[in-house]
Amino acid sequence: MVIVPIACLSDNYAYLLVCPETKEAAIVDPSEPDPVLRALAENDGRNGDVKVVAILDTHHHHDHVGGNVEVAKSLGITRVYGHASDKGRIPEQSELLEEGMSFTIGSLLVRVLHIPGHTTGAVAYVVTREPHDAVVFTGDTLFIGGCGRIFEGDPPMMHASLTKLTKLDGRTQVYCGHEYTEANLRFAAHVEPSNQAVAQARARAAELRKAGKPTVGATIADELTYNPFLRVTSPEIRKTLGIAESASGAEALGVIREAKNGFK
Ligand SMILES: [Zn+2]
Repeated sequence: MVIVPIACLSDNYAYLLVCPETKEAAIVDPSEPDPVLRALAENDGRNGDVKVVAILDTHHHHDHVGGNVEVAKSLGITRVYGHASDKGRIPEQSELLEEGMSFTIGSLLVRVLHIPGHTTGAVAYVVTREPHDAVVFTGDTLFIGGCGRIFEGDPPMMHASLTKLTKLDGRTQVYCGHEYTEANLRFAAHVEPSNQAVAQARARAAELRKAGKPTVGATIADELTYNPFLRVTSPEIRKTLGIAESASGAEALGVIREAKNGFK
């Protein structure tokens, strides 16, 4: 499958997802219309015309749905996906999703995971072509090297949602809603200074950013080695932040999230 990250606003990513066989496509989280429509025109120049048939929204925040109306209108899109509980909060929403539902974009299978925490209606879209060719759009729940702020949920909810994502095939590539990787990994190095995987991920991210490239697309298996929000059992992280050995994963996650909120 083809995935084109589209830089929007100051640090958001929308995505163009294309089925290579049918050329049917979807736009994930159109933050604003202009960069999305421009990226689409550029892609058509390179890969031939695609037919955008759907908008996939990961959650209701304006920096993820702000382009829905104009993009849908310009491209004649009638399928706009979001969680059922976000009805009324996602402009143009036509499809009301629940955990485990699935649909197709051309021959790509899209499966829905409900991952509340950042917002109560947050969803992830797991897209598979073949078992070894899978990606997940995680919105503001799982970032490369980090996780989103807990606005509408609580730490146990976020912990359960992140755990659900870690159960995906380790080769699944993560495409998230913001370019926060370098700041996330700076925090990861602070809480787990002896983790070599963090150092390697930081070097890789620095190189990509220097070349003006996005850092998205790391795998779930990669994330498990350096993302502190997926490493709540790490003795070093617990020691750095004074989290008791007996604390649950959800409790540890809450402390790590609080520490990140105050980290400069
Ligand atoms: Zn958000």
